[in-house]
Amino acid sequence: MNAAERPHEHTPENCRRYLGSLGDYIEGTLGVELCHELEAHMVVCENCRVVVNTLAKTISLYHQLPAPELPNAVKERLLAVLDLKPFLQNGTGSEDLQAE
Ligand SMILES: [Zn+2]
Repeated sequence: MNAAERPHEHTPENCRRYLGSLGDYIEGTLGVELCHELEAHMVVCENCRVVVNTLAKTISLYHQLPAPELPNAVKERLLAVLDLKPFLQNGTGSEDLQAE
């Protein structure tokens, strides 16, 4: 569907706020309230939706393959924005880092 009328003000600041939580969201460690907020935002924001999808795929790729498909520039930006470097650097060796 094509949304001719924008349902909300689309500011980069708004997305940035959520981008910082996407890593937690994908890992399932995000709080319930923020989680719902983020999901509501993703309904209207394709950018954040794409980032979540891409990031989820990237993370699963890192678990399966030594080399990701993402170009380095994109990867670096994602890592910088989402602060996932520690997570990705543990790709080999210890797999079960999730402490619930
Ligand atoms: Zn957004």
